[in-house]
Amino acid sequence: MSKTDDEDGHHGFPTRAIHAGEISDAYGSPRTPLYSTTTFSFDTTADLLDVVEGRKPGCLYTRYGGNPTINALEAKLASLNHAEAALAFAAGMAAISALFLAHGRRGVICVGDVYGGTWQLLSEQLSLLGIHTEALLGSELDRLAELLKRGTGLLYFESPGNPTLEIIDIAAISAQAHAHGALVALDNTFASPVNQQPHLLGVDLVVQSATKYLGGHSDITAGVVSGSTALLAPIAAWRKNLGQIIAPETAHLLSRSLCTLEVRVQRQNRNAATIAAALERHPKIRRVLYPGLPSFPGHELAKRQMSGFGGMLTVEIDGSGAEASRVVDRLRLIRLAPSLGGVESLATQPSTTSHRDFSPEERLRRGISDAMIRISVGLEDPADLLADLEQALAGLD
Ligand SMILES: *Cc1c(COP(=O)(O)O)cnc(C)c1O
Repeated sequence: MSKTDDEDGHHGFPTRAIHAGEISDAYGSPRTPLYSTTTFSFDTTADLLDVVEGRKPGCLYTRYGGNPTINALEAKLASLNHAEAALAFAAGMAAISALFLAHGRRGVICVGDVYGGTWQLLSEQLSLLGIHTEALLGSELDRLAELLKRGTGLLYFESPGNPTLEIIDIAAISAQAHAHGALVALDNTFASPVNQQPHLLGVDLVVQSATKYLGGHSDITAGVVSGSTALLAPIAAWRKNLGQIIAPETAHLLSRSLCTLEVRVQRQNRNAATIAAALERHPKIRRVLYPGLPSFPGHELAKRQMSGFGGMLTVEIDGSGAEASRVVDRLRLIRLAPSLGGVESLATQPSTTSHRDFSPEERLRRGISDAMIRISVGLEDPADLLADLEQALAGLD
């Protein structure tokens, strides 16, 4: 766990993405070297105890969280998320499960649609440990006060949500939860810190799958939690003994990816906006869900709490679920794959992937139709992406 370097505080986001947290070495390396080391040695027992007992900074054992490469990454992540500190994990789900274990004991209220693995934890696995969970749709927020009054300790949600890109008023529900003494945690994977800063809107703990935009190249699996040092301490204790630490090699790659996070996400925002606007005029498309479109139900709220509308969009084709599958199957440049946030564009049909385990009735209640296709817009030329979508949709006749 590393604290934000105060000196970095006044620098702009891209400057911090490159410089925050970086440590130099005796050779003048401009970037933090990769310490693949598992353990660290000391001259004397007194020196060892100084580190173990917290009198001096230092590293002891990588799994415990002390490793210069990992700690440099964590300082950068804390700075980029406007948090006091951050913890890096081996996967987004590692971060999310450690968060629930550390802060979910007084119950968890989940609002809106969440990632499939998170849903499985909340709906099946946490109850095995005696952790009580409740779930509300974004349209059922009138029941939130009643659930908070029962003393539930943690409110958890995503915004934009998957796959409808539903926008939840982050500042409003954070204030409501705080008024009842609950902590607030948000999964910021879809927006990334470039487009949304949840800590500045009142969120206590922000989790992200770094496998997506933060990593950005579909080649590393990692996760992060940011927040205050005090709230992160019990999460770090679970990370230590569940063995969820990020690998130093992955931390090194993630640190490199973060240097280009802003330029990547800005371009993905622009490409997605171009594609959303063009598809909205397409005769074979019934609906385009993209927070940047004035027609999108959450557009005004998104404008208030986001600084960019993201690279994710969902379209509903004018046809059946089977026809949507055929459109996805005909795509050539855009690959059929269930991830997001990488340089290459990916498409999935939520009814066959993320929401396959829900009944058709439950999908409908959640506003998810079988004719929906979710697209993670990458960094290709948007004209090429549009041409690919056009040829795939042309087959619908
Ligand atoms: C992918 C994803 C996760 C899980 O992350 P992993 O790195 O695959 O463990 C959690 N939340 C969201 C929103 C995601 O997209």
